[in-house]
Amino acid sequence: MTAALRTRFAPSPTGLLHLGTAFSALYTFEKTLPAGGAFLLRMDDLDQGRCRTEYEQAILEDLAWLGIGWLQPVVRQSERQDHYRGSLEILATLGVTYPCFCTRKEIAEEAARSLHAPHGPEGILYPGTCRGLSNTEVMDRIAAGKPSVTRLNLTRAFDLLGGDLFFEEVGAGPDGETGTMRCAPELLGDIVLARKDFPGSYHLCTVVDDASFGINYVARGEDLFHATSVHRLLQELLGLPAPIYDHHKLIKAADGRRLSKRDADLSIQALRDAGSTPADVRARLGFLW
Ligand code: GLU
Repeated sequence: MTAALRTRFAPSPTGLLHLGTAFSALYTFEKTLPAGGAFLLRMDDLDQGRCRTEYEQAILEDLAWLGIGWLQPVVRQSERQDHYRGSLEILATLGVTYPCFCTRKEIAEEAARSLHAPHGPEGILYPGTCRGLSNTEVMDRIAAGKPSVTRLNLTRAFDLLGGDLFFEEVGAGPDGETGTMRCAPELLGDIVLARKDFPGSYHLCTVVDDASFGINYVARGEDLFHATSVHRLLQELLGLPAPIYDHHKLIKAADGRRLSKRDADLSIQALRDAGSTPADVRARLGFLW
């Protein structure tokens, strides 16, 4: 790569940093440093019901304790809503969005009714209930005060593209493959682009922010491998550059489960309280001090 490496770590401040998220932060930071690149920190705080400033503060402290330094200022998605609105408008103008009034419960019920409900790697795919609503039906629902999300109309998006998309994987995909990957955004279906309570979703905000901040190398967990196909599609629709992707293995609990906020004893705070040093935690995750 000729351009200087620019990476980011983007935790959601909905809980404490645990061994899994700390691994991701260290993995990204350690890739950046030797290459003389820039490491940005972004708070993915778009779920305002679950994000807390106390968690953000704790994450900043834990990262610094682990020896990680980042460029100032810390980016917060909650402060970038105008950027996401602008991108949503572009996608609407392209005709690749539609409002969806279904609740999670309705989507699950619809899938249960259908014998052939489409499933993706992350579970049920949106069955497309609201995709064909007429303008009058949309207006009626809005007039009745029904809240809506904005979804991507994947079929229309494919029509616009007219060809395959690819991304460069330098980590390891689910099958351990590296190199040029063909995108398969259909595995996630008509994803949400904007939530009911926020003018963006994880997918949209990540793509917009990675481009806005010149991120050219995205390191993150392999659980997001399929999301990358969707991100490439959004980049293409919005005319944004594609970073290189590096999906790393996840740190699992002793029983093979993915670590989560429920594993309170594996939070960095708990390990610190129990007397671990930064060098201990780094060594446990496979990083030298
Ligand atoms: N906030 C996202 C997460 O914690 C970031 C994922 C990414 O790096 O794109 O899963």
